[in-house]
Amino acid sequence: MASDMSDHIESPVKEIALVSTGGTIEMMTGRRGLVITDGINQYLLDGDVIPANINVTKIEFSSVPSPHITPARMRELCLRLEELAACGKYDGIVVTHGTDTLEESAFLADIYLNEQVPVVFTAAMRSYAEMGVDGPRNLRGALLVAANPEVHKLGVTVVLNDEIHAAGRVTKTYTSNVSSFASPGYGPLGFVDQDRILLQRMPLWRLHLPPGELIMNRRIGLVRIASGFGAREIRFSADCEDPGLVIEAFGRGNVPVDVALAIEYAVNKGTIVCVSSRCYIGRVLGVYNYSGGGVDLEQKGAIFAGDIQGHKLRLLLMACVGMKCDSQEIRELLKGL
Ligand code: ASP
Repeated sequence: MASDMSDHIESPVKEIALVSTGGTIEMMTGRRGLVITDGINQYLLDGDVIPANINVTKIEFSSVPSPHITPARMRELCLRLEELAACGKYDGIVVTHGTDTLEESAFLADIYLNEQVPVVFTAAMRSYAEMGVDGPRNLRGALLVAANPEVHKLGVTVVLNDEIHAAGRVTKTYTSNVSSFASPGYGPLGFVDQDRILLQRMPLWRLHLPPGELIMNRRIGLVRIASGFGAREIRFSADCEDPGLVIEAFGRGNVPVDVALAIEYAVNKGTIVCVSSRCYIGRVLGVYNYSGGGVDLEQKGAIFAGDIQGHKLRLLLMACVGMKCDSQEIRELLKGL
C-alpha cells in the first residue's frame, strides 16, 4: 500500500480504541454460510492494516450479527463510547459493526454523544471467505480518520469504501456491493486517499438530543405507507398504547384517506405521530390540502420531521420519549430538520 510517510515521521503516536460489535467484518465461512467469529477477526489486523503512527487498543463490546443489535444494545454502546471518549486515554474511537443496522447505531451515537474525540464506524460488505474482501481496507481508513483531530467536528462518521459519511445522512443502499454506503442528496464529507484524509465539507445540519438519561426501551412503531395500506397497522399501534409512531408517508408527506383517519385516531389516543417520507431524498412539508395531504395531517396533530429517514426518526423519537419530552418539545426539536 503506497503511503506518504513524510506525514508521519514527526507525528506523535495516536491512541485509538477499537470497539468491536460483530458483523461480516468478523465473519468466516462456517458449514452452511458465514458465521461470526469470536471478537475481532484474527486476520483483520494483519499486514498493513494499522498505520505506523497508530496504536490500537482492542475492546470487545459484543460479537453478533447486526440484526441482533436492539435499541437497548445501541444505548449500551453509546454509554460505552461516552465513557471511552471521556477517559482521556484515546485520541479517537473506531467501532466495527455489521452493515445491516450500522446506520442506526451510528445515528444514535451521533445525536447522543458530545464530540470530544472522533468516533468512526466501519464495517465490511464482504467477508474473508469472498474474493476482494473490503474489511481490512475499511478498517485502515477508519483508523486514519479517527486519528485526525479535525474529524470530531463532523460528529460521528461512517467510513467505508474510502468515503467519509455523516452518521445522520448515511444509509446502506445496496445489499451486496462494496460501494453500498452513501448519503443520498448530500454526498460524502470527504475521502481517504491512501494515507491522506481529504475533508471536503462540514455538515451544517446536526441534531442533538436534549441533555438527559438515554433510555431506549419504549415501544415506537414504524409504518411504511403503500397504496391502500397502513391504516390497520396504525390503529393497532395506537391500541397497543405505543407512546410514539413514525409514518413513512408518500412524497411530501401524504397518505390515503383511511390512513389519515387512523393517524387522527392515534393522536387522539395520545400517541405522538411523526411523519417522514418513503422517498429517499428530500423533506416532508404540509403543502397539499386534501384529505390525507400534509396540511390535513398537520391539522390532525401529526408532527412533520423534515428530511430524516423513518428508521432513524424512530430511534430519535424513542430517545425523546425516554427522556420524557412531550409532543411540543419534540415538535421544536424536529423543526430544524
Ligand atoms: N448481516 C451482516 C450484519 O449486519 C451484514 C454485514 O455485516 O455486512 O451483521
